[in-house]
Amino acid sequence: MTATIIDGKSIAADLRGKIAGEVVRLRNAHGLIPGIAVVLVGEHPASSVYVRTKSKMVAEAGMRAVDRKLAASTGERELLELIAALNQDDAVNGILVQLPLPAQIDAQKVIAAIDPAKDVDGFHPLNIGRLASGLSALVPCTPLGCVILAKTVHASLAGMEAVVVGRSNIVGKPVAQLLLKENATVTVAHSKTRDLPAVCRRADVLVAAIGKPEMIRGEWIKPGATVIDVGINRVPGEAGKSRIVGDVAFAEVAQVAGALTPVPGGVGPMTIACLLLNTLRAACAQRGLPEPNI
Ligand code: NAP
Repeated sequence: MTATIIDGKSIAADLRGKIAGEVVRLRNAHGLIPGIAVVLVGEHPASSVYVRTKSKMVAEAGMRAVDRKLAASTGERELLELIAALNQDDAVNGILVQLPLPAQIDAQKVIAAIDPAKDVDGFHPLNIGRLASGLSALVPCTPLGCVILAKTVHASLAGMEAVVVGRSNIVGKPVAQLLLKENATVTVAHSKTRDLPAVCRRADVLVAAIGKPEMIRGEWIKPGATVIDVGINRVPGEAGKSRIVGDVAFAEVAQVAGALTPVPGGVGPMTIACLLLNTLRAACAQRGLPEPNI
């Protein structure tokens, strides 16, 4: 078997196009231009690139980007004051604080200070609790992207065996909650799981969110399974350069799986598209408008 490659890049572009269309409709019908504030503290190189890409895609979707760049020496109180101001600002529908934050700032305190209605990263304890309770919530972007990708292969995940490898708060746990909401039978595996290959072989849908290059091997895969690879790992490449690989041994797994996301070009592009989707949903909810039909 050779797996169908799930083209996250084009699925994300399609989603961004639909969002842009909805933004035009909202502007014309209600004078609403969704706005997102992206807060970056310090000069973390990967974060700076990510924030630049986010701002570009926010603008392309017809939304308003309010970038706030603060010095690496910014204190916790100053950041909390900025969050309080953004919470009050009606032109800001979504607030994203780029992590990691410098050591002098307690990230949990900052996340908890964001108005849950504007928490487009879905990391606020209230949104996490609502997701865990099966209530509507703003949900984390990467996990949302994983489920959207799986649903391009299976219109319904109901009754499927889903295995999530990884139990982090930003990927593994929320992806498991979302799969449960889709009525999959969900197993969450982690570093203490016994016989991980056997657990993975049960999966009709396997989500790998580990952070270990190419750890999931071909013989761990149930023939025909759908495999979503969240991992982003930099490894040595040719001529002294580095390259990015996922948590899944792509070439091997592609021989067994039914469908598989590549790295790069799979889950990664979905994260920003889902951030735009969350911002659109947040803007509609704050205006008392129905949830956009996307
Ligand atoms: P994390 O916080 O380090 O969590 C890793 C999880 O993997 C933990 O639950 C850990 O188990 C588990 N694990 C580690 N080694 C294992 C092993 N040998 N066997 C089984 N489980 C093992 O990482 P994360 O933030 O969730 O990120 C995971 C990966 O996704 C990383 O490569 C990251 O770069 C990538 N990522 C991608 C995106 C995107 O947009 N595509 C977004 C976020 C993250 P324990 O809990 O037992 O330690």
